[in-house]
Amino acid sequence: MKKHNFYAGPSILPQFTIDKVAEAVKDFAGTGLSVMEVSHRSKEFVAVMDEAQTLLKELLSIPSGYHVLFLGGGASTQFTMVPMNLMQNKSAYLNTGSWSTKAIKEAKIYGETVEVASSKDANFNYIPKDYEIPADADYFHITTNNTIYGTEIKSDLDSPVTLVADMSSDIFSREVNVSKYGVIYGGAQKNLAPAGVTFVIVKESLLGNVDRAIPTMLDYRTHIAKESMFNTPPVLPVFAALQTLKWIKDKGGVAAMNKINNEKAGLLYSEIERNKLFVPTVSDEEDRSIMNVCFVMDEQYKDLEADFLSFATSRGMVGIKGHRSVGGFRASLYNALPIESVQELVSTMKEFEANN
Ligand SMILES: *Cc1c(COP(=O)(O)O)cnc(C)c1O
Repeated sequence: MKKHNFYAGPSILPQFTIDKVAEAVKDFAGTGLSVMEVSHRSKEFVAVMDEAQTLLKELLSIPSGYHVLFLGGGASTQFTMVPMNLMQNKSAYLNTGSWSTKAIKEAKIYGETVEVASSKDANFNYIPKDYEIPADADYFHITTNNTIYGTEIKSDLDSPVTLVADMSSDIFSREVNVSKYGVIYGGAQKNLAPAGVTFVIVKESLLGNVDRAIPTMLDYRTHIAKESMFNTPPVLPVFAALQTLKWIKDKGGVAAMNKINNEKAGLLYSEIERNKLFVPTVSDEEDRSIMNVCFVMDEQYKDLEADFLSFATSRGMVGIKGHRSVGGFRASLYNALPIESVQELVSTMKEFEANN
C-alpha cells in the first residue's frame, strides 16, 4: 500500500533527493567511492558545499553581507549560539511554544532576556500580536513556525532591533525578505535534508560586538572564515540538502512552493471545518500553519480518537498522531508532501465520518 508521510520531523523528502543520495552512497560524483567515505576537502565535496551555499542564497534572494553556514548541533545549538554571539546587554523573545521556551532558557544564561509576550495561557494556540519590543535589546527572537502547536508567523515582521528567526519547520515554504533579519536558522530535518545539518543565514556586520569570550566552535566568525569547513561538516546531509535545493529550483522556486503549500493546507483546513467529527486547534486563520496542521476530535466524538487513528493507518497515513502536548492529530505538509497525500487524508476523514 502507498504510504502518506505526515511525520513532523524527520519528515518526508523529495523522491529526487532520496534517489540522488542512494546513488551517491554507492558512487559519489564518479569517484568510485561512497559519499560517506570521501574527504570533506576533496574537490568533489567542496563543489557540493559551494553549490549548496550558492543555491540557498539564490532561492531566498539573500542580499550581500550575509553568509550561509551548514553546521552540526541542530537548531537547539543555535538557541545558545545566537545569544552568545549577539547579546551584549539585553535580548527580547516572543514565546510561541516549546521551542521558543527552550531558546529563552538558553538566552537567560547570557544576559537580561525579556519575554515580550507569550501564548502559553492558551496552550500556544495563537500568535500574540500586541507587544512592545524594547528598543535597547540587541535582538528580537521569533519562532516563525511552531511545529508542535500548528501556528505560524507567515509574514516578515517589522522590528526596531535585529530580528532573529528559528525557521526550522517553514524554511523554503514561502518567500522571505532576508534583509529584515539578522540571523535565520533551523535544523534541516523538517524541510531540507536528513537530520544532522543545521542551516544558518547570518549578517556578518552584526558579529564581533560582544565582550564575552566565545568558544571557537560556537563563534559564527569561525565558520564564516572557513566556509563551514572549520571542522568536518555533516557531509551526507549537506549533499542531500543540495539535492533538495535543486528540486525546489526545478519546481519553480520558493514562490511556487508557497502556492502549492497554501493549496494543500487550504484543502485540509476546509475539511477539518466541514467534517462534524473534527475541530482545528488554531481558530484564527491568520495564525494557522501551512506546514503543520493540528486538529482534534470534537468533544462529543472524543471516544473515536483511537478508532480514527487506526482507520487512517489502515489507509496508509503515517505520522498523524498529535504531539503529546496538544493531543489529537497533526498532519505535517512539508514541501515534499504531494497534494495527492492531502487528498487521500481528506477522503479518509470523509469516509470515517460516513461510517460514524
Ligand atoms: C525541530 C525544531 C527544533 C529542534 O531542532 P533540532 O535540530 O532537533 O535541535 C527547533 N525549532 C523548531 C521550530 C523545530 O521545529
